Amino acid sequence: MRRVYFDHSATTPVRPEVAEEMQKYLTEYFGNPTSLHYFGRQVRKAVEEAREKVANAIGARPEEVVFTSGGTESDNMAIHGIAMINKNRGNHIITSAVEHHAVLNTVKALGKQGFTVTILPVDKYGMVSLDDLANAITDKTILISIMHASNEVGTIQPIKDMAAMAREKGIFFHTDAVQSMGKIPVNVDELGVDLLTVSGHKIYGPKGVGALYIRKGTRWRQTLFHGGAQERLRRAGTENVPGIIGLGKACELAARDLEKEAAHLAGLRDKLIKEVMDKIPHVQLTGHPTMRLPNHASFCFEFIEGESMLLSMDMKGVAASSGSACTSGSLEPSHVLLAMGIPHELAHGSIRITLGRDNTEEDIDYFMEIMPPIVERLRAMSPLDQETEFAVESSCAACKVSSSCHR
Ligand SMILES: *Cc1c(COP(=O)(O)O)cnc(C)c1O
Repeated sequence: MRRVYFDHSATTPVRPEVAEEMQKYLTEYFGNPTSLHYFGRQVRKAVEEAREKVANAIGARPEEVVFTSGGTESDNMAIHGIAMINKNRGNHIITSAVEHHAVLNTVKALGKQGFTVTILPVDKYGMVSLDDLANAITDKTILISIMHASNEVGTIQPIKDMAAMAREKGIFFHTDAVQSMGKIPVNVDELGVDLLTVSGHKIYGPKGVGALYIRKGTRWRQTLFHGGAQERLRRAGTENVPGIIGLGKACELAARDLEKEAAHLAGLRDKLIKEVMDKIPHVQLTGHPTMRLPNHASFCFEFIEGESMLLSMDMKGVAASSGSACTSGSLEPSHVLLAMGIPHELAHGSIRITLGRDNTEEDIDYFMEIMPPIVERLRAMSPLDQETEFAVESSCAACKVSSSCHR
């Protein structure tokens, strides 16, 4: 069966060049980079070269890059490290309703530890408003954390303007750039951010490795791990050497191929969006129509459940994901779609198609071949009364769609 992978926001395959570079650090070069002897020194050198590659990809200096276990740790570390060390200056943190849970739940946890938290709303495109941000800032605000681009709906936030606002007031600014890396330019000085999160496995690198950029002079301390003096006291624990080598290579390739990649992806994305909107009735595009990642297409299909669509697509070999999270253990649809004001019933019909470097026009053609019959069949079976129920906004647990939920 033809297999089409359309879930690159969830994870990407490791590029062969990356795997090749990592290989010898799993076997031949096994030393601990902290060791002073030959075995250690060899590996130390490679780790520092990888740090340079990550730094170059985001316009930073190598000493401003700390290796971590991934995007989640980088987000936790950024937020916690600023909050704990700047408590004496203020206890107010601002974030947005559409953040990844690695940010949202970290900020919420701090909310239970004496910090005051503002979670900014978004408009129907998932965009945070500059006015809302300006109005939320108080003289107690120490940190603003807003993602560069959304994993769920692809919307790109005006980080440059927000970070400028923060800088003017002496507030630290963190952005999660896990999804934007390799798809749109990510430069810490262009954006004007103090902290920035990167993850390996979203940019064709390995899983379980990431980086946190911390601008020189930022009042930040490691507050989560207690241990050794690795990463200049910023991240204890023996370095994940093969992972770090892979992340370095992935960043190098992402920066090198950015323009070509973005053009390829945007072409496919535009074709996909146009054909879905033209050929399938009762579909809405979610996320911003223009300010969106070049690889990202997300939709809500009326009168259907996203999970059922995913299962039907999977049977035809197409892998995508949904913001309707019935099988992931929650009856609530995605917090991002709800924050955008999408009604529960409609949010249940969400599908996210995220393209990658190996996708082709033929993949889109195949998708457009299998999709209309799937939609038609599921709609025919839908428990929703298409005339009346659809307009009714009800709480999710009670909504009609959940009667066919697989939980
Ligand atoms: C995947 C993702 C993360 C988490 O990164 P991990 O390396 O999987 O921990 C954080 N933020 C965003 C926007 C993501 O898409």
